[in-house]
Amino acid sequence: MRRKLVAGNWKMNGTSAALDQVEKLKSDHTNPSIDIVLCPPATLLHKMMHSIGNAPIFAGGQDCHADVSGAHTGDVSAEMLADCGASYVIVGHSERRTDHRETNDQVRIKTKAAWRANLKAIVCIGETLEQREAANTLDIIVGQLAGSIPDNATGENLVVAYEPVWAIGTGKVPGLDDIGEVHDLIRTRLERRFGSGVGRSVRLLYGGSVKASNAGDIFDVSNVDGALVGGASLKADDFSPIINALQ
Ligand code: PGA
Repeated sequence: MRRKLVAGNWKMNGTSAALDQVEKLKSDHTNPSIDIVLCPPATLLHKMMHSIGNAPIFAGGQDCHADVSGAHTGDVSAEMLADCGASYVIVGHSERRTDHRETNDQVRIKTKAAWRANLKAIVCIGETLEQREAANTLDIIVGQLAGSIPDNATGENLVVAYEPVWAIGTGKVPGLDDIGEVHDLIRTRLERRFGSGVGRSVRLLYGGSVKASNAGDIFDVSNVDGALVGGASLKADDFSPIINALQ
């Protein structure tokens, strides 16, 4: 059985004041059978670990550099995230692929870096609107999946997030059939490449405009094991109902 997982991606939002939301989440949240991950800006990770304390909430980074350390101004390594207490890291988010022109090759190398630091990698893939309208979604997903994920994936070290680029932060969500089609494809491809045991154990998240009102329906789709949530993860009042929809 795959453990359900809801991850919140705070993106470039949040200073110390935002840690109140962690306190609120802790009191909202008592179900130990769901993994909750908060991915704040790197600047908040250390303080967030203090706020989390012994609560069953994990923290993650939003990106990592491929190297352990060195002359890379402004970058943060997977080892540094782990040192702050992170256990996950998002890699290949579409905003990184767009803003920083990250390629599948770079995402794969970063995923290896995450594993080197014993972090679980949440690898993001997803088509643009143009690609969907040209009926290229499934080809894009297959290519991103093959290119972004290294060998040696396991159900422990890998989570795949399907995030259609056009659904991120827009309020638009694909049809449930479309989400199911992509998630089934991802599952099949993972089973084919890594064997059915590993392929079946990797958790698959849907991301893109998930909110309390659509989460329940999305979580009922086959092969959806949880969600990667952006905007609605910033406030516990928005995030907790999404987590509750998974129970
Ligand atoms: P959103 O972002 O929930 O605000 O659409 C999702 C994401 O970018 O991970």
